[in-house]
Formats: sequence, C-alpha cells, structure tokens
Amino acid sequence: MRYIGTHANHPFASASEAVLLGMVPRGGLFVPEFIPQLEADTLAQPDYLETARRIMAAYFTDFAPDVLDSCLRRTYNRENFHTPDIVNLRPLGRRRFLLELFHGPTAAFKDVALQLMPHLTTTAKSLTGDKTHTLILVATSGDTGKAALEGYKNVDGISIVVFYPQGGVSEVQRLQMATTDGRNTKVFAVRGNFDDCQTGAKALFLDSNLRDYLTGMQIKLSTGNSINWGRLAPQIVYYVRAYALLAARGEIKSGDEVDICVPTGNFGNILAAWYARAMGLPVRKLFCASNKNNILTDFFQTGVYDTHREFHRTSSPSMDILISSNLERFLFEIAGRDAEKIKPWFLDRFRTGRFQIDAETKKAIDALVVPGWADEPRVFAEIKNVHEETGMIIDTHTAVASAVSRDIGPKDGPATIIASTASPFKFAGDVLAAITGEAEPDEFKAIDRLSELAGEPAHRAVRGLQERPVLHEGVLPISQMREAVIGFAEGVKTRT
Ligand SMILES: *Cc1c(COP(=O)(O)O)cnc(C)c1O
Repeated sequence: MRYIGTHANHPFASASEAVLLGMVPRGGLFVPEFIPQLEADTLAQPDYLETARRIMAAYFTDFAPDVLDSCLRRTYNRENFHTPDIVNLRPLGRRRFLLELFHGPTAAFKDVALQLMPHLTTTAKSLTGDKTHTLILVATSGDTGKAALEGYKNVDGISIVVFYPQGGVSEVQRLQMATTDGRNTKVFAVRGNFDDCQTGAKALFLDSNLRDYLTGMQIKLSTGNSINWGRLAPQIVYYVRAYALLAARGEIKSGDEVDICVPTGNFGNILAAWYARAMGLPVRKLFCASNKNNILTDFFQTGVYDTHREFHRTSSPSMDILISSNLERFLFEIAGRDAEKIKPWFLDRFRTGRFQIDAETKKAIDALVVPGWADEPRVFAEIKNVHEETGMIIDTHTAVASAVSRDIGPKDGPATIIASTASPFKFAGDVLAAITGEAEPDEFKAIDRLSELAGEPAHRAVRGLQERPVLHEGVLPISQMREAVIGFAEGVKTRT
C-alpha cells in the first residue's frame, strides 16, 4: 500500500514514511492510494487482536507480518486495556449499543491508537533507516495530549511536546498532562483555544526554516494528532470488531446494515468509521454528533463551512473545535479523490475562514451523513436519562452522541453503534451533577461520589491523580510555540 497527499503535491509514500512525516510537508494529509476491502473472514476473527491484524496488514504492507504482529501484541493486551476484548459493546436499549473505547491507560478512546503509535513509529524508523531523533508535536483539546504522552514517554529515539489551550481543558485533563513523568516529555499551556494550538502546530510542520534547523541537529518533526494516518488506521478496527460482536451475539444478521453515531471534534473517529464502511462494512448512515460548537452540523446542512462564529467552552471539551482537520480527508474521498477540486476549499478556509462545497459533493454527503448537535442542557438530560433507563453512567462526550442518536435517529432503523469515547470518571463533576442535580466543585470528591454511585472503583487514570507531583507548568503565548519547540529540541540534542 502506498500513500498519496490530499493536495497531490507529494510523491507516493510508504506507510512508514506517512507515519514518520505525519502530514504532507507542503500541505495536505496522507491517504491510502486505494481502499482495501475486508477479507471474507475478517468479521469471523475470534478476538480484537486478530481483527486488528487483518485490517492493519492491509495498510501497513511495508511491515513484515511478524513485526506488525509484535507491535499489535505489545499494544492490545490486558495490561494496557482493562476489558477482556480491548473494547466493550453494551446494549443501551432500543437497538442502540455503546461501543466503550476508554479502557486504556488514560480513559479516552485515543489510547486505542496512541498506545500503538510509538511501536509503529519505532518500526517505521528502522524500516526506513531513519537514525534521527523524532520530535512528536501534539496539539490537544484535552485527551490526545495525555494519551500521546503515555504512549511515547520513555521511548528511545522519540521526544514529545504537547500544547493545550490554557483554561480550555478540564482540571482532571490538565493534571493528567501536568503530572506526566518520563525523560522525553514536555507540556505547555498556550494562551489561546484548541484551534490556535492546532493551527500553530501545523504551521511549525510547514515551516521549512525550522525543519532545516532541526535537521541540522538530527531531529525530525512528526505528529501524534489524528492528521497522522497512523492514528486513523487502528480506529477502523473497533468499528469492524463492534459489527462482528453484534453479529456473534445475534443482535444483527451477518450482512445487515448498522448506523454508527460518533461524538465528533477533529473528525478523526468518524472518519475511521467511514473507512470501515468503504472497506465493505455494512454501514447505512454515519451520525455526526456535535456539541454547542456545531460548525459541522451547519456545514453538513448547508454545504458552507464558516469559522466566523463564537467559540464555546462546553462540558465536552474534546469536541470544542472549530477547525476539524480530518474533514479534508473526508472531502477528498467523497469528492472522488479529486485534489484539484478540494484544494481551493482549504485555501479559502485558510485565507477567509470560510468555504463552500459544490452541489455534487453535497449530494454525496447527504446520502450518507446525518448531522446533529446537542446543547448543554440536552447533554445533562441525556446522562440522567441513560442512568435512569439502564443504570449505566456515560460521560459528557458520549452523551452528546447518545442524545443525537435518540433525537434524530430513525425510530425503526437498523441497530446503532454509539462510540463511547471517554470514561465518565474523567468528567466526574458534570456527570455527577447531571445525575444527582447537585454541584460538587471539588473534582476529586466528585470522582469518589461517582464511584459510590456506580458501585465500582474510579478509572485507574484518575485515581490518586491529585497526589502526583506537577512536573509541567509552562505557559506560552501562541507566538512562542516555535521558540518553545526549538528550546526543547536543543535540550534533546544535549541529552542524546
Ligand atoms: C478526541 C475526542 C472526541 C473527538 O474525536 P475526533 O476524532 O477528534 O472527532 C470525542 N470524545 C472524546 C472523549 C475525545 O477525547
């Protein structure tokens, strides 16, 4: 499998090259040259690991099977994921199913890909003979940062810098990142929102002076964000696995269509569902669920993507995003893989903050994507509804998706898989308030009370967090991100 750029401005890349570069150096994102089809027996695999092996092998053809296998085994095991089959599928009533993706070390779905990424990166370096130091840049709205830090920390030949919006992440998310140890990690709060962090990080990738300077020190930049294909491919696996589980449990007949509903921010997780469908998984509709930052709902309804709007801080901070990077890959795919067609849209967005797609592309999207959003009262009501109906406790992001699927999903449609993207313990204060109606301003007391309510211990990612020493306290204006990276890189240079 070779990889091409969404702006058609890069020669073919191998999977290793795509993972190491992260994004196309002159702009655009890597996509596979073609979309491989699921093998006849992929849905019949006995466990997650075997399913992952089939799917990943189709995308990582430059990895020898035993090498890929070793990467997957070191990732998808009971030590990293505390549920028997890595992910967990639970009935939610009315043919709706929660696909729990948060049993990894940091309690967010991003662990599924980010626990694997360091193994992919290290292998890719040895396959391409790359002896340089890899500096991973990450912009985070809260969850990616910690998942990436846990994945890459103390991995030889790799360092990681994380930028998060100051005041834009929850207290637990902030502490998770700020208490990260490891000899190769650095975390900065940026005075801006997530979009500023992401745009700033992307600008560093496109900065050829910076690249040359770092190359002089034998350092190369890469990214742990979902603009990296290595983040997306592992996410395809769990949708295929969820379908297989539904069929194995007799909830659907093999070949039946399902709907998939995803709480969306950077459009990575829902895009992975799209790739699963393109590979042949019987998926009828994709429900794109947004919080109050409903720019995607408006876009899918009108065909106009307009970033000139108010940015809202919500109880689902990982979805507080106005510029969804992976939309670029999606439009490339939907618009017939025509780089010349989509390039002007992203140029327009860059220059004017707005673009409009053509009627044909809009029509293709309408046939597949159902957009919806939930405001804050609706999200809180949904957490309470689900708890009353099923006894299950869902987090604020999952609640956005659950509310959207309940409100706009067809009453007698196919089974719906709802991506459950974070543990409720990560957002305990809001979840507790939604269920009990009482505010508990101390997040750690809220975690304890939620644990009592749930009758189970809190997720290990948040237990004892308040006692760990804070190791990262740096705060930067947006304009200093470049200097911060250079400073950290010089430190890497002297250490190695
Ligand atoms: C990152 C994240 C999302 C959004 O996923 P995207 O791939 O960015 O669309 C949703 N929920 C949680 C809990 C997340 O951490």
